[in-house]
Amino acid sequence: MGLLEGKNALVFGLANDKSIAWGITQAFHREGAKLGISYAGEMLERRVKPLAEKVGCQWVEECDVTSDEQIAAVAEKAARHFGRVDVLVHSIAFAGRDELTGPFYNTTRDGFKNAMDISVYSLIAMTKAFLPILNPGASIMCLTYYGSVKVAPHYNVMGVAKAALESSTRYLAYDLGPQKIRVNAISAGPIRTLAAAGVGGFRDMYKHFADMSPMRENVTIDDVGNAAVFLASDLSARITGEVLYVDSGFNTVGVQMTGKENQEKSE
Ligand code: NAD
Repeated sequence: MGLLEGKNALVFGLANDKSIAWGITQAFHREGAKLGISYAGEMLERRVKPLAEKVGCQWVEECDVTSDEQIAAVAEKAARHFGRVDVLVHSIAFAGRDELTGPFYNTTRDGFKNAMDISVYSLIAMTKAFLPILNPGASIMCLTYYGSVKVAPHYNVMGVAKAALESSTRYLAYDLGPQKIRVNAISAGPIRTLAAAGVGGFRDMYKHFADMSPMRENVTIDDVGNAAVFLASDLSARITGEVLYVDSGFNTVGVQMTGKENQEKSE
């Protein structure tokens, strides 16, 4: 029997088959969850619908999370289709390309607001909208990155947004704890996705990561999917307000050695 058998799981943030949301969707499907998928706009429909078909998902809904009306409408549609929901995945972020290159002090007021609105406030808005139909024991999760706690060059305003997202995770976990609803974040190592392509110097960072992480390996969307299964399942029943790192151990290393020294260590 799958770990998510009997659970209704909604995944927000599927763009294509490179998306972390796709790794999560496939892992949830493998573990027997009944799935719903939400995506951001008409332009993505063409890519998302065939993926949804692959996992037998019949609930595929558009939702731009900058709109309270759209969030309310999608929650209403979920209530009609599923009745109640056990798992809510927020795999959504956005910052303009200009904000993700050059110095952080060039961040514009609009760019800051936009990044915080789409990447952070949306988790709060979604939680509120779905709360009436969440089952006790439900699990909410979002995706974050280490640039929230340490400087990752070019990550800029998104690092600040991820810090706010992680903090929001803790505040939501506190609010919903008495209702036995859990809220956690997965902090994934760099993965080549559409969103990542917008971050200046991502290629170098991606390569550096594989050289420097204790496990000397990059992270895949399947790795994140498997961690998401754990957080969605009853196996993590008493875990809330946490940031779970899926990063080959990268965040645990305080002092980075040069390539040569690192090489010697692994020989
Ligand atoms: P992705 O581009 O596949 O996913 C980002 C999603 O956000 C897209 O589906 C996009 O449509 C959606 N989105 C953007 N604006 C939206 C809006 N207004 N309304 C609704 N949806 C909107 O890239 P990804 O890397 O899979 O990103 C998913 C999550 O994982 C993000 O929170 C990202 O910050 C996080 N993350 C990514 C990495 C990485 O290296 N790729 C690492 C750690 C965390």
